[in-house]
Amino acid sequence: RILQVSSKVNSSWHPASSFSSSSVPTVKLFIDGKFIESKSDKWMDIHNPATNEVIGRVPQATKAEMDAAVSSCKRAFPAWADTSILSRQQKEIARLITLEQGKTLADAEGDVFRGLQVVEHACSVTSLMLGETMPSITKDMDLYSYRLPLGVCAGIAPFNFPAMIPLWMFPMAMVCGNTFLMKPSERVPGATILLAKLLQDSGAPDGTLNVIHGQHEAVNFICEHPDIKAISFVGSNQAGEYIFERGSRHGKRVQANMGAKNHGVVMPDANKENTLNQLVGAAFGAAGQRRMALSTAILVGEAKKWLPELVERAKKLRVNAGDQPGADLGPLITPQAKERVCNLIDSGTKEGASILLDGRDIKVKGYENGNFVGPTIISNVKPNMTCYKEEIFGPVLVVLETDTLDEAIKIVNDNPYGNGTAIFTTNGATARKYSHLVDVGQVGVNVPIPVPLPMFSFTGSRASFRGDTNFYGKQGIQFYTQLKTVTSQWKEEDASLSSPAVV
Ligand code: NAD
Repeated sequence: RILQVSSKVNSSWHPASSFSSSSVPTVKLFIDGKFIESKSDKWMDIHNPATNEVIGRVPQATKAEMDAAVSSCKRAFPAWADTSILSRQQKEIARLITLEQGKTLADAEGDVFRGLQVVEHACSVTSLMLGETMPSITKDMDLYSYRLPLGVCAGIAPFNFPAMIPLWMFPMAMVCGNTFLMKPSERVPGATILLAKLLQDSGAPDGTLNVIHGQHEAVNFICEHPDIKAISFVGSNQAGEYIFERGSRHGKRVQANMGAKNHGVVMPDANKENTLNQLVGAAFGAAGQRRMALSTAILVGEAKKWLPELVERAKKLRVNAGDQPGADLGPLITPQAKERVCNLIDSGTKEGASILLDGRDIKVKGYENGNFVGPTIISNVKPNMTCYKEEIFGPVLVVLETDTLDEAIKIVNDNPYGNGTAIFTTNGATARKYSHLVDVGQVGVNVPIPVPLPMFSFTGSRASFRGDTNFYGKQGIQFYTQLKTVTSQWKEEDASLSSPAVV
């Protein structure tokens, strides 16, 4: 499938198309972006091995031509070394994401980049799709299995990662041989459409990816349509639980990645400088609209004293429209999202917490109508408070304090969500104990946002995930494939040319 898609892209580069029109075609040189007829006086015939006919002539490039080729490589190297794969498309998609979603251009490029990493990994599907074999399970009998596609699969995506999350879905499904129906978030459909265009340009046959737009009706349609065999969902718990149940009831596989409340546990022996910087970036980056945002800090023991410095660092972040230079965080997705976040901050004050930094009244010059909320820090938070129990999904860090690591672990494990967490410490035994005991899918040790690379899978436990197999990596391949096992017996005595005497 990968070859099929790329063959169309490469068709103009095929040697046959660079032959000249003379009776014995010549192969051109490709130098500095141009297909050039060589000035060489040394040519070699190319033969068709099946007929031994001469089908073309290839030059031995002259010294000047080879020099020109190397010079061209040398000139192009510095810029190429600085260019990541597909970066031009990446920027175009990123601009669209910033326009529709609001995040900074740097975050939007990261969004595309993380998705493309999954695409790259999907290209190794040939080894990931291998089945299993067991020869001679009994006389003349072998057993082997294939991984086969399911058929039509569907994806339902959230607003916060308009490129990355669709790219978790359709590339993995399609390399496994499925066709795909994508429903992006109705708030950010542009990136998916652009990705579909790129996929088409690269040669994917019509129908292999279809994109529909909509809300509840489209979701119900997907959950119930008999031809859809599997649903990948990423979004809130409210929608995810519903889709998991409704899709499963209609006999589909469903994988549902849902909400989060990610805790960062700060030990007093942590590297203070690093930890505070990482906390600020992970709590407020992307305006907290990240499923992996580190939205809850637990300061253990003497680390409580770092709170004023944390506030100072958060104050320095620049809130602006995502496409403005220097912006650290952009607006929230809708006025309703802003209102919800502000209400949750209010609930903190009403329930006895302290607001150390308040971003509710922020005004951004030139963008007075935007849905901006500035970095907000709420301290003295207790686990029974609404601002702790709810996923805020905004630039708000709630801070709890404990005297011991054990108390911190208990808080994390008592929270219903099990998406991501991080511990900051310089003690390996502390880090190991924490990683071992927390019931959370993704654990970072001095890494605030531990999103696994695509050769692993994006995990999540408890209320953060429903389903059996996770997104991307080997688990993703399992999700989008089914096994067929073949048990076959070929009796030796039936082999046509075998002679009993010889056997
Ligand atoms: P959302 O649940 O509102 O929307 C996600 C998708 O579900 C959209 O395509 C939407 O059209 C559809 N949808 C929304 N409400 C629905 C309903 N009542 N019935 C049927 N379909 C419905 O989520 P969102 O606001 O776009 O995204 C934010 C949420 O997504 C947060 O809770 C965040 O934690 C979560 N999220 C999770 C992950 C993850 O990997 N676990 C990643 C990103 C975001």
